[in-house]
Amino acid sequence: MLGDAQIERYSRQIILPQVGGRGQEKILQSRVYVDGDGLLAATALLYLVAAGVGTVGLARSKAAPVFSALAEQSLQPDEQPVAHTLRRLNPDCTIMVQPAGDKQPTRHYDLVLATTAALHDEWYAQRKPFVWGAINGEDARLFVSRGDRADRPCLRCLFSERVNIPSDRQAKAGQVDSFPSADPTDSPILSPPYALFLGTQLVTEVLKIILQPEVDSQPKLLEWTFPAFHCTERTVEKNPHCAVCSTPVQSAGQSA
Ligand SMILES: [Zn+2]
Repeated sequence: MLGDAQIERYSRQIILPQVGGRGQEKILQSRVYVDGDGLLAATALLYLVAAGVGTVGLARSKAAPVFSALAEQSLQPDEQPVAHTLRRLNPDCTIMVQPAGDKQPTRHYDLVLATTAALHDEWYAQRKPFVWGAINGEDARLFVSRGDRADRPCLRCLFSERVNIPSDRQAKAGQVDSFPSADPTDSPILSPPYALFLGTQLVTEVLKIILQPEVDSQPKLLEWTFPAFHCTERTVEKNPHCAVCSTPVQSAGQSA
């Protein structure tokens, strides 16, 4: 049940028919982990907390450079600037800074928002959604890998498909065909408006899953080209040979 202060804080979301009071309660009960080190991840953290996601997790040291500048003098010696800043932004949110070396942060959360694909495979194995976005130069991409939907392609399918794109097209589109296990957004030349734009898109996808997990839209890769913000959509097919999401099919002769 939302309190008066919460109704006031989230009023601009609650009036949306897709959210309402029940939806806001769902958001407050959700647990989202953010994986990424750069400006894009920091932007996403801010929007998740502003939206009222109840528990937000991140790894120790992540996004620290951005938040060090925002933290107050009252920062405790052992307190992470990022956690300090986010708690002040919205006291409804619990900020969990995972200890360094914690290899399985995923078990504590419902879904992940990631600007690197490093955690994708273990997340998929837990059958949880993985919202991925990256900015590379003047190209931005977004894809939702639904580990909770066995019939949906995963991020590995997308990149195995990319290998088959003719090299001239890859070069023209500035696309990267290797699996993005590093975070390309941790670049000093990344434009803040681009990070703000994609950060809001990523958080919107997260909120859509929290609010209506049963809605299973067509799996698409969204790509934007800056500075025109030209958007293209491409349907991604499930790779039947994908090492991550294809389940072994029992042969007809196999005895039960
Ligand atoms: Zn796959």
